[in-house]
Amino acid sequence: MGSKTKLRFHQRLFLILLLFSWTIVGCFLIFQYGRERQFKAEQLDARLQLYNMRLLEALRDGKSPSSLTDIKAPFEDLRVSVISMSGLMIFDNTLDSLPDANHLDRPEIAEALSMGTGCVIRRHSDTTKGNYFYSAMAGDSVIVRTAAPYSIPLQSVLSADSGFLWFMLSVTLVMGLAAYFVTRRLGRTISRLNAFAQKAERGERIYDDEPFPHDELGEISGHIIRLYARLQKATIDRDSQHKMAMHEQQEKIRIKKQLTNNINHELKTPVTAIQVCLETLLSHPDIAEEKRADFLQRCYNDSERLRRLLADVSTITRMDEGSQAITKGPLDLSETIRDAVSECKAAHPEPAIEIHTDCPETLLLTGNCSLLASVFRNLLDNAMAYSDGKNIFISVVEDTPLYCKLIFADDGVGIEETHLPHIFERFYRVDKGRSRKLGGTGLGLSIVKNAILFHGGTVTACNRPAGGLEFTFTLMK
Ligand code: ADP
Repeated sequence: MGSKTKLRFHQRLFLILLLFSWTIVGCFLIFQYGRERQFKAEQLDARLQLYNMRLLEALRDGKSPSSLTDIKAPFEDLRVSVISMSGLMIFDNTLDSLPDANHLDRPEIAEALSMGTGCVIRRHSDTTKGNYFYSAMAGDSVIVRTAAPYSIPLQSVLSADSGFLWFMLSVTLVMGLAAYFVTRRLGRTISRLNAFAQKAERGERIYDDEPFPHDELGEISGHIIRLYARLQKATIDRDSQHKMAMHEQQEKIRIKKQLTNNINHELKTPVTAIQVCLETLLSHPDIAEEKRADFLQRCYNDSERLRRLLADVSTITRMDEGSQAITKGPLDLSETIRDAVSECKAAHPEPAIEIHTDCPETLLLTGNCSLLASVFRNLLDNAMAYSDGKNIFISVVEDTPLYCKLIFADDGVGIEETHLPHIFERFYRVDKGRSRKLGGTGLGLSIVKNAILFHGGTVTACNRPAGGLEFTFTLMK
């Protein structure tokens, strides 16, 4: 409740400025008013003293006090008194009977006696019961005193010029308005700084998108907020990077664990099979030659499967452990493709599938030779093993200075759509039995994908409308 009624900074500043300016103007007005009144009183006194001098001269010339009223007075209703040096009133044109009171204690008389002339701006007369402006002048034997009744005209003569007052009031008003706008502008900056501080305290996100006014405070505020926003962004970026790194690390650990589990599982079958074969051979030394050969062939097949599995695992781990372990160098991709094709043809002397290549004579890029060879070897082996098609097509469809794009397709049976999103996963097999029988490790397409990623590319697989599986992939040069 208290904070709601609390005045805001710029309001307080405005009120202080207003009070300050009003005090200065007020003091100035009082001082000026007093000076002007003094000046006007001196003017009035000068005129009355001039008249007093003429009266004294007339008295000196032997005229009687009662005839003094013949001399033209500067004001109407002027009260003229003649007072003796002992303070007794000798004459007063407004009184029928003269008072006995001693007038020496009257301030204008006392002043006239000591200084020659004396004046009082406003004094109440006990004798006439009115207020007067008194001017007295001491002669050789008498004192002449003239008094102007303190009437409305005299008051207006003595009052200060109201024009000046109005001028000062207008100046104050203009100053007040200017102070209001200046403090409001200042207040806006302060309010925003305040809001910023509160937000920062609450740990909210700060943006420096709204500019501050172009003054010193605005610029300082802008600097502070910009610095803070930058610092906050850096902290957030660092935190998210840290989070990502942590996540990546955890993911790596998870994948490694999964890989280890899968490897254990994959190793078990061939190792057990070899062990069973060897045990049978050992326990039956007189086994028929035909059966012995069959057992040995099985052992050989399983050990070959083990060899392949270990080779694939080694490739995968090498890629997992980081790209530094695998070096890159200039190579001709067309040559790599040609080598892989001829290797495949050598492995399948009577092929049921024909391989068609559409590549430029040379296709130079920087990469790892054995990884790229394993991409084509795996794809060719898979197409030979699982597609049941008649043709394999390898074509370079785009060749730019930055990257090249290739399509590897067959015209076989393809893969069911539900399996397609998983075929690049480690140890994922569409037909487990068939894959194992054909010596598949379940790591082939995973190696393909990782090798392409290692070369800055991407890979996708889809079923061709005409039948068969199609891989589209890019490789950065
Ligand atoms: P594998 O060691 O079993 O070959 P891969 O990762 O190389 O493992 O392949 C995963 C699965 O994808 C294979 O088990 C196979 O069923 C399927 N596959 C791969 N290539 C083709 C293809 N050209 N035609 C049909 N199925 C395929």
